[in-house]
Amino acid sequence: MLSAVLVEPGRFEFEEIPEPEPGPGEVVVEVRSALTCAADLRAYRMGLGSPGPLGHEFAGLISRVGTGVRGFREGDAVMSAHSAPCGECFPCTRRQENLCENLPRNMAVGSFAEFIRVGAPIVRQNMFPKPASLSFAEAAFLEPLASVVQGLESIPLEPEDVVVILGCGTIGLLYLLTLRALDQPLRVLMAGRGRERLELARTLGADRVIDGESESVVEEVRQATDGLGAQVVMDCAGQPETWAQILDLAGRGSHVLLFGGCPGGLPVELDTTRLHYDQIALVGTSHFTPRAVRTAHELLAGHRVRPGPILSGTYPLRQLSQAFERLDQGQGTKFEIVPHATEDPGE
Ligand SMILES: [Zn+2]
Ligand SMILES: [Zn+2]
Repeated sequence: MLSAVLVEPGRFEFEEIPEPEPGPGEVVVEVRSALTCAADLRAYRMGLGSPGPLGHEFAGLISRVGTGVRGFREGDAVMSAHSAPCGECFPCTRRQENLCENLPRNMAVGSFAEFIRVGAPIVRQNMFPKPASLSFAEAAFLEPLASVVQGLESIPLEPEDVVVILGCGTIGLLYLLTLRALDQPLRVLMAGRGRERLELARTLGADRVIDGESESVVEEVRQATDGLGAQVVMDCAGQPETWAQILDLAGRGSHVLLFGGCPGGLPVELDTTRLHYDQIALVGTSHFTPRAVRTAHELLAGHRVRPGPILSGTYPLRQLSQAFERLDQGQGTKFEIVPHATEDPGE
């Protein structure tokens, strides 16, 4: 089968390698749609893990089933997260499976290929049937949407809260769509950069879109909240300059969700008086539990979250480099890669 391998920073090579074999409890999925992710772009730029396969957001058809697999058969259309918890380590026993110590061992990576092997813990916990009404591309959003659901579950929300989302990339936009799916009169303000992304935020239902390049996010949020600040601030940008702003946007008794990771080991300065006396909670979030994956599956399968418009285009596998070159130049948000060209790509 054909597989893309990152051989050095910024360069993929295409290799013919043997098709994977499913072990006990495992399945092999014929990839119908694989999506690029910010983590892939980071790896592409830095050559992280190279040489190695990239791609972990995918949906497809089960081509082979290992012994002992229950609930799935050859030919089933499926959507899957790329990892699953072990259920036995310390965080798992505390029901913090998103922090499972054995996640790296239970990962399915390399979806920029014709086939991908999905391990037994994933098949058991984080793989689901794809309804025919859902395209493979939208189904492939299961993993990033699960991360988003995980974050939302860790903060309280009142129906009329003001939520500020910093960052109009895939994650910021998925937060917007998920908040809208709650069907509450929340006011969602989004701040980001780039005309294309800001426009997308507007069409996907943000009440106010703030251009971080030409407007002051702090001033706009203060004005929109009569000086009170927001009840929820979500950082989906992962930039030191957005982290530096969070307390200026957060109201008393608010929650700040920290989704976007800054470069490792970076210190930030925070006003202790505001944190303490204004009771502002800083909440980190990472990865997802099987419960979050189930919720994400329900949101996608029930068409309550429709992430399709976030995609900026589709490339065949052989043109994977073009998708990454565009992302590297700041063009587009997320691309779909299709290893198997079919007559009916959406099914
Ligand atoms: Zn991802
Ligand atoms: Zn574990």
